[in-house]
Amino acid sequence: MENFGLDVWSNKNYIIENSEIKLNYKSMPSILEIIKKIRSNDVRGPILLRFPHLIKKQIKNLYSYFHKAIKENNYQGSFNAVFPLKVNQFPWAVDAITKQGAEFNYGLEAGSKAELVLAMSQSKLKSNITVNGFKDKEMITLGFIAAQSGHNITITIEGLGELKTILEVARESSLRVPNIGIRVKLHSSGSGIWAKSGGMDSKFGLTSTEIIKAISLLKESNLLNYFTMLHFHIGSQMTDIAPLKKALREAGNIYAELKKMGASSLCSINIGGGLAVEYDQHTHTKSHNYSIEEFSSSVVFLLKEIMNVKNVAHPNIFTESGRYIAASHCVLVAPVLELFTQDYQESLLNLKEKNPPLIEELEDLNKSLNNKNAIEYLHDALDHMESLFTLFDLGYIDLQDRSNAEILVHNIIKKALYLTHTHNNDELKQLQVKLQERYLVNVSIFQSLPDYWGLKQHFPIMPIHHLNSTPRRAASLWDITCDSDGEICFDPQKPLYLHDINLNEEDYFLAFFNVGAYQETLGMNHNLFTHPSEYTIKIDDEGYKIQNSFESKNILQILKSIGYNENNILQKLKQDLLSSNFITEKEKNDTLAKLETFVEQNGYLRTTN
Ligand SMILES: *Cc1c(COP(=O)(O)O)cnc(C)c1O
Repeated sequence: MENFGLDVWSNKNYIIENSEIKLNYKSMPSILEIIKKIRSNDVRGPILLRFPHLIKKQIKNLYSYFHKAIKENNYQGSFNAVFPLKVNQFPWAVDAITKQGAEFNYGLEAGSKAELVLAMSQSKLKSNITVNGFKDKEMITLGFIAAQSGHNITITIEGLGELKTILEVARESSLRVPNIGIRVKLHSSGSGIWAKSGGMDSKFGLTSTEIIKAISLLKESNLLNYFTMLHFHIGSQMTDIAPLKKALREAGNIYAELKKMGASSLCSINIGGGLAVEYDQHTHTKSHNYSIEEFSSSVVFLLKEIMNVKNVAHPNIFTESGRYIAASHCVLVAPVLELFTQDYQESLLNLKEKNPPLIEELEDLNKSLNNKNAIEYLHDALDHMESLFTLFDLGYIDLQDRSNAEILVHNIIKKALYLTHTHNNDELKQLQVKLQERYLVNVSIFQSLPDYWGLKQHFPIMPIHHLNSTPRRAASLWDITCDSDGEICFDPQKPLYLHDINLNEEDYFLAFFNVGAYQETLGMNHNLFTHPSEYTIKIDDEGYKIQNSFESKNILQILKSIGYNENNILQKLKQDLLSSNFITEKEKNDTLAKLETFVEQNGYLRTTN
């Protein structure tokens, strides 16, 4: 895995050149260079980089593949897309999405009142807004206000109760009525770990009986001409395209039936989201089996077929893919703070004049280890280690002997694994798992990779430099939370190997890719670690610009955000320090200044790294 699966997951967004990973775009800056520049302003902790050009690329791909399919199939409907805000509501993400999407008239989707307010404030009047999720009268009224204010908005009902509320608001006010969509409860469901959004037992949508009832309610109220859209969503990160095709056949036929029943304004089918992102770093575990090209042409072709058979005009197509649009635009970069076996560096060896015989033997093994005897010597060393621990427990060797034994054995392991890395045998693989190196990373998995914590969703991980040498240490990553779940364990099925770096001599930065979808608002403040400092990177032919810097909350701000009074906290700390004894006034004041600086920094670690 010399290139960390770049060819599997990166979609040509990055390349490796001169031992660093670089953006494969225009002036091709290296991520390390950008990170160094940001850190030169004393920024510490994890750093989130946003690349708007990658959002543009995804939006453009989505539209151009659908336009291509429409042309090839001589399809009569139009293609429209909206971005579901639940995927990323952060201001600089939404800013990039609305700016980059402007030329396509790319819209927004809202699933809650707050998201609807956000959509109304961030979208241009003529672009589409779709509204899903459970709604109360206030939320529905907000939809009417949006329509009244000139937005092109469609409220999709998840149940008959919501329709009744819409009819009620329409009766009670003279506000403009928004377009109405109906979400259908499909018989088909999706695939993958997020498949629960579709299927008979799904949380959302109307059954056929309810749809028929909805049509008659709309007719009675003279509002049938506002019913314009049929909607379904079979779940996120579809691993397989077959369930989507099944859902399309089902929804397409419902659409055609409704047209025949007199729903004359019905003109759009909204196929929801679910386009998958490749998160995997290994070819054998690729997480989806279709391309955007296959996806778009399947959708267009199937809808055309169904409508032609039933002699119904081709509907306009709407998609709400969010993960596909946003995932690739964010990279999280975090410094490694420690490699745990660095405590076992050979330079720390402190042998005595006369050592216990087993230690003398370990020293011999360490010196004479070579290609041929590596495995045998490794076995011997592990065996001696066990004996030495027993001797220590029984009081026959002292702490210095034990320390020497640990250092020698670790060095033998390291050298042996290095010498045998080309051997492909199970025992060695198991040894690697057992002897993996633990990298302590200045990051919180709970805050920045919550889907790893909650769903074991893998994200591509790689160092951003040192890429001219082969990484050989089986790596597991520890975050800095005090929680044993804050660990990305070495997985022999999807191994991650990292470099053996002496952190006293050089830095080591790891990057986590494709973290732009869902991770930011799902991230939680466990241990009070907050959203990392973020920067938007605009790349052009000459170089790049670092914009929209938004620093991680400082310690007082995070305490305030969960309800503390930050002034009281600071006051109390100062008071206690000032009324303490045994230090001079000067030292008190110097310490006070330090204290004030500390609480105005973010809570991530600030060691030299
Ligand atoms: C979550 C959601 C989406 C977005 O799904 P992605 O997998 O991110 O594309 C689209 N539509 C609806 C209704 C959703 O709930």
